Amino acid sequence: MKNAVLITIGDEILSGNTVDTNSNFIATQLKNIGFKVVQIFTISDEIETIKKTLKSAFELGDLVITTGGLGPTKDDKTKKAFAEFFNDTLVSDAKTLEHLKQLLIKRKREHLFEINLPQADILSKSKVFQNHNGTAPSLMVEENGKIAICLPGVPYEVKPLIKKQIVPFLQKKFEQNYIVTRIISVVNFPESLLSETLESWELALPENISLSYLPIANRVKLRLTATGKNEEILNQQLNEEITKLRPLVQDNVISENGDSIEEILHDLLISKNLTISTAESCTGGELSHLITSVSGSSQYFLGGICTYQTQKKTEILGVSEDLIKEKAVVSEEVAQAMSLGAQKLFKTDISLSTTGVAGPNSDEFESEIGTVFYSVRIKNFEKTFKLYLPHLERKDFMNFVSMKVLQDLIEILVKKNL
Ligand code: ATP
Ligand code: MG
Repeated sequence: MKNAVLITIGDEILSGNTVDTNSNFIATQLKNIGFKVVQIFTISDEIETIKKTLKSAFELGDLVITTGGLGPTKDDKTKKAFAEFFNDTLVSDAKTLEHLKQLLIKRKREHLFEINLPQADILSKSKVFQNHNGTAPSLMVEENGKIAICLPGVPYEVKPLIKKQIVPFLQKKFEQNYIVTRIISVVNFPESLLSETLESWELALPENISLSYLPIANRVKLRLTATGKNEEILNQQLNEEITKLRPLVQDNVISENGDSIEEILHDLLISKNLTISTAESCTGGELSHLITSVSGSSQYFLGGICTYQTQKKTEILGVSEDLIKEKAVVSEEVAQAMSLGAQKLFKTDISLSTTGVAGPNSDEFESEIGTVFYSVRIKNFEKTFKLYLPHLERKDFMNFVSMKVLQDLIEILVKKNL
């Protein structure tokens, strides 16, 4: 396995203004093609610092990837640092310049500004990966069998460059092993108990298969990673191991191949041909946001309503005023009435609702902060759940509840085969 080192360049990352999501994305992509990321550096935009870090990085890895600092402004120094580090000169590249012009025309910017001109400069010995989503190209330099690649900083430019150009290039270049991953989602099983239950199965796993536990919102993702020369054999091996795993976890598995809860839901609703809607209160739209973050969700998600104010639950969802007065707005009964209202409003097979207090302030009924009721309705079936999460901050609360709602829905769909 080849080692890789990532360098994220930018003062704004060091200051905490920007969260470094590029490293996370690149590391995941590299792992899939058999690179092991052994170190990630985050450094300031200074030529000397960049050069020094490139030196350290090459001592650690066969592949070094940097992101950031390729823009047209004075604080963008990565390309200059690369040129100095590799004892190379920057030359204007006709193809890159043409690409840049076309990109600007496509963006309805007729003129190439003076400031953009140096963006068509490349290291004389570099290979160019043209950037179809921004003005800075990605450059690759090879020296003594090792490779350095610089990428822009903007995530929506980085992602396609990595996926469409750099990953295929590296795969061809290094002829690495295949890596096949399967993620099994287990619910109702605390991580410690699960690892105890799986101990002997885990110990007997073939040497080329590794296992990791990733707990998230009351779910444990078991990630099985198989490495080898033949993709088909790896898939076979994984299938065999999962067959052995099934009786150990019984019906607590909600998915055998899916990473995020919203993707698992996507596959399940499409295969079952079911539609869904939401009626939210304390999750403030996060539940619909989660559902719609998957491309293709329009096939099953018909709509969502965020009835945040108590009165709107009555006006829009038809929740009875008396019921609210009698049971309080954060109650099992109101959650049920809300999901019923959404199901009628949107005419969906499934409807979900949430009502709770995220805090830090309580509601007019003095409900206990951190309490939430949610209802999962599937045709004529309904189940209400209660959670108490006083330790979570507002945003984390909304996110946790939304994930848990979807997780419970999936569990019901899988177990009851509805
Ligand atoms: P530009 O042409 O926009 O100047 P650049 O290649 O010079 O691009 P930077 O200036 O370093 O890149 O960053 C541009 C923007 O990209 C930043 O404002 C930031 O929002 C985002 N960004 C940079 N690095 C990262 C990173 N590691 N993770 C996530 N976002 C990043
Ligand atoms: Mg910049």
